[in-house]
Amino acid sequence: MCDNLPVLLRQPSSSTRDDATFHRTVFGALTITALCDGHFPLCAHDVLRSGDTPLGDLLEDAHLDAVVPSHVNAFLVDDGTHRTLIDTGAGHLQDATLGRMTLQLMAAGYDPHDIDIVLLTHLHPDHMGGLTHHGEAVFSRATVHVPRDESEFWLDNGEPADVDGSVRATFEHARRTLAPYLREGRYRPFEPGTTWLGYISAEPLPGHTCGHTGYRVRTDAGDIVFCGDLFHVAAVQLVTPGVTVCYDSDPMRAHATRKAFLNAMARRGDIVGAAHAPFPGLGRIRNDGAGYAWEPCVE
Ligand SMILES: [Zn+2]
Repeated sequence: MCDNLPVLLRQPSSSTRDDATFHRTVFGALTITALCDGHFPLCAHDVLRSGDTPLGDLLEDAHLDAVVPSHVNAFLVDDGTHRTLIDTGAGHLQDATLGRMTLQLMAAGYDPHDIDIVLLTHLHPDHMGGLTHHGEAVFSRATVHVPRDESEFWLDNGEPADVDGSVRATFEHARRTLAPYLREGRYRPFEPGTTWLGYISAEPLPGHTCGHTGYRVRTDAGDIVFCGDLFHVAAVQLVTPGVTVCYDSDPMRAHATRKAFLNAMARRGDIVGAAHAPFPGLGRIRNDGAGYAWEPCVE
């Protein structure tokens, strides 16, 4: 467990991981609410790529079966005046067990109208799908911010001929999901290094997608880095950072980015918010000698 835990306000309804809804933590002047969009079965042999290392051995070492129960997490940052949502869950774009982010947001006492800023780590369905419902913008006031490389890849350049079939539909999903925000002038591609509200900054984490980006949030109680899909199965990819996923657009780059990120986080001790770590997805990275380990801050 993490040292120096911030003040924790936990909802009595979020008693187990399976029925977890939202999880509110106070970090200095900021309130961070983890929002569980839902869960899905990750078929390890279909998704993970372990190179020469037998995946079965890695799963066994991690005490995991071939189907890994996985969460999708989004995060709300509230400074009392501005509310920033980092990723939005899957909406209706993926499994029926996903798409609950807006419900959790409302259960936590917010209205979608309250959201000022949406920051997306990348434009895969389980991160952007919650933006739109039946073609209408879910967030009626928010501006949606997307790394420029990511935006250009999915929206501007057409579909590359060699794209993996598993992500082909994402081009159409991106166009449809972002359309209301584009139409209403609330869509903002941004450059690396962009900052928001004086305490949030973008940090490129390329490889999973070309514009995959993390967001560093500075708080009085230390930094939190929301790292999107830097890893999908912590118990495997932190121990062996070279394990990639079939959705990585550039697996070698994803590996290099993951190694550097894990090294930096373990050294700095920043809290990490991860989209697919077990809900609520907040933890620290510990250097284990041969690899790294995930230490949940709150469970
Ligand atoms: Zn994802």
